[in-house]
Amino acid sequence: MMGRHAKQNELWSEPVNLARRIPADHPLRKLRETIKLQFVPEEVAGAYGRKGNVSVDPVIVMKMMLLLFWDNVRSERELMRIIPLRIDYLWFLGYGLEDEIPNHSVLSKARRRWGAEVFARLFRQSVAQCLEAGLIEGSKLHTDSSLVRADASLNSVVAVTLAKLEESAEEEPAKRSGGGGGPVNQRHRVATDPDSTLVRHASGKSYPSYKSHRALDDKAGVITAVQTTAGIRDDGAELSHLIAQHQENTARKPRAVVADCKYGTSANFIALAGQGIRSHMGDLRSRLRNHHQSGIYPAERFKYDEGRDTYKCPAGRLLYRHHFNRHRGYYDYRTQPGVCGRCALAAQCTRSKAGRSLNRYPGHHLLERARLQSHGPAARRDRKRRQWFQERNFAEATTQHGFKRARWRGLAKQTIQDQLIATLQNLKILLRRGGFGHFVLGELLQSCHMALRVIQTDFQLFAKVIYT
Ligand code: SF4
Repeated sequence: MMGRHAKQNELWSEPVNLARRIPADHPLRKLRETIKLQFVPEEVAGAYGRKGNVSVDPVIVMKMMLLLFWDNVRSERELMRIIPLRIDYLWFLGYGLEDEIPNHSVLSKARRRWGAEVFARLFRQSVAQCLEAGLIEGSKLHTDSSLVRADASLNSVVAVTLAKLEESAEEEPAKRSGGGGGPVNQRHRVATDPDSTLVRHASGKSYPSYKSHRALDDKAGVITAVQTTAGIRDDGAELSHLIAQHQENTARKPRAVVADCKYGTSANFIALAGQGIRSHMGDLRSRLRNHHQSGIYPAERFKYDEGRDTYKCPAGRLLYRHHFNRHRGYYDYRTQPGVCGRCALAAQCTRSKAGRSLNRYPGHHLLERARLQSHGPAARRDRKRRQWFQERNFAEATTQHGFKRARWRGLAKQTIQDQLIATLQNLKILLRRGGFGHFVLGELLQSCHMALRVIQTDFQLFAKVIYT
């Protein structure tokens, strides 16, 4: 039988409540109930004048920025185009059917005006909400990083002369510290987004890039620290910042840090052991040994004499403290000149013509203790878990929130992008793991209220019929 659509006149004839069209389990309904944006107007009040045109409500602007990443909408222009077409978006933003949707430029203007702090506070608040819901245990931390392609074409990469390179190194020492980056990014500069750097990705191709560093709490995978840097930045150099941010955001000190061997540098091992934190990170030295030092005596074959501050090598010769490497922060130990050249074991001991050398850091006992922890069964178990635990978090950010491609240019804006995505991922964990009990209760009460009203109306009708 052919069906015919009956006209729905009630939409235009009587007040309607379109909120009923948003299902109780709609993710945006849950998000709206959970997210707390009351602080935004107060936080950005200083960025607005007292006279002139009235701005769009900052809470709505913030919600629009969240929507951009929530559904990975292609562009801000596209978002403004689809808002009037979607009842759930209108409801989430608090707009009516006839309200005028602002121009897409309000979002970029707001970002410029507000600065990064309001987004950092938004992220911190998401961590605090997860903490309150009991989703953060705080004692075990997983850290990792991922490259993000900058919004810059390969055509905008220009070769840098040596003079320019030295100039930029003086201007931006922080960006170039940490020992990261190979010859590719040292010889090139990205003209359209100078904060990004040319970095080789896993695919083998090089792109202008940023790097997003994250720390995840072990209990439910809540992101407790986010740091954004140029793509050249070494992972290990960001570990201390991530731990400090985690402690600040959760008020809890981690007992163990789990990470791959890019973080397992001697400096990090010593720093963690010094703070009483267990190192469950891969050991970078083991990887380097596989690559560069296979087939020669490992450092363990050399015995250290604390009283004389010397090492004894497998041939029974002594290695003395030679010099302090200020860049790497260790003492270099060597034999007397010419000793290694005359040694029968030289082929198994060194490939250097200058002879064998050993490194010893101040606080070497801490390093040895941390390395032992890193090779222990608990650390190996944690690193195995980390493979899916951390990767799942990055995979969700990539496939659902457009994490792998920078929407805007400049380090400050990329930081905002990372914080918005991390905030959404934390809120999703909160929604999934029962952080919206108040929402379920509210829905239940609303349903009971509606049911009572129906019963009341039916009873009145029934009484009317009996009476007549
Ligand atoms: S090469 Fe030098 S350090 Fe190595 S075993 Fe011979 S003397 Fe000792």
